[in-house]
Amino acid sequence: MHWEYTAARVLFRVGISKGTVRAAMNVGLFGGTFDPIHRGHLALARAASEAYALGRVYFVPANIPPHKQRTHASYFDRYAMVALATSVEKIFVPSLLEAPEAAPRENYTIDTIRRLKPQFKKSDKLFLLIGIDAFKDIAKWRESDAIFRECEFIVASRPGFSLADVATSLPEKLRPAPAVIKPFAKHSAKGDLVLPGVTVHLLDHVEEKVSATAIRDAVRAKKPLGKLVDPAVAEYIRKRELYKNR
Ligand code: ATP
Repeated sequence: MHWEYTAARVLFRVGISKGTVRAAMNVGLFGGTFDPIHRGHLALARAASEAYALGRVYFVPANIPPHKQRTHASYFDRYAMVALATSVEKIFVPSLLEAPEAAPRENYTIDTIRRLKPQFKKSDKLFLLIGIDAFKDIAKWRESDAIFRECEFIVASRPGFSLADVATSLPEKLRPAPAVIKPFAKHSAKGDLVLPGVTVHLLDHVEEKVSATAIRDAVRAKKPLGKLVDPAVAEYIRKRELYKNR
């Protein structure tokens, strides 16, 4: 009895509840329409988790993405495909953070981050995973400077982009003066860009030549999907007869 009491007090003092002891964790947040999730998404998440020792990567399909005209498959089908594609990776977690019930209106990343963060320990660190094409528009995202305060970025880079392109894409309040950015033009977009209030890690050799658009086109043209998507996702697309029509 006495031992139980003491043990409970010790656990309380070190801030542990119900026996869940875990060290500080690097957590990845990967949002998108995932219409469908494909090899490029998985390659980015794998490379990011290896390079930055991510203990968990949340894949968050958006119910209503603010930056796209429309989605092709329903939220539920896109979520199901994310769940199938991530099932074999221990640290990949399909997330309902932007599900219709959780977020009935347009899904803004800053709101998703604010919904996720209360589950964090103080020492946990958040990384936002994103492709360089999407990063180019980051300044247009709602409260983009707040997003930079909340997390570091891991960006899948591509040949042809320079560090100046990355710096120029930053929200106005965080963007260095043109004279500071100019010398970055000689450097390709790789390595880390660390500025006041900004940490961007660039992963090169990650981006695969695959897009959800190409997959939807292939389905419509009755072409095999090969290794573009996980076999379970290909089977799901077939069974649910997704992407057959525009
Ligand atoms: P679509 O072709 O419908 O525009 P998409 O293939 O770009 O879709 P999204 O779900 O819109 O997929 O992308 C989610 C995120 O994944 C974005 O940050 C995007 O830049 C990134 N991404 C998309 N394709 C790749 C790829 N081949 N390699 C690395 N990142 C990618």
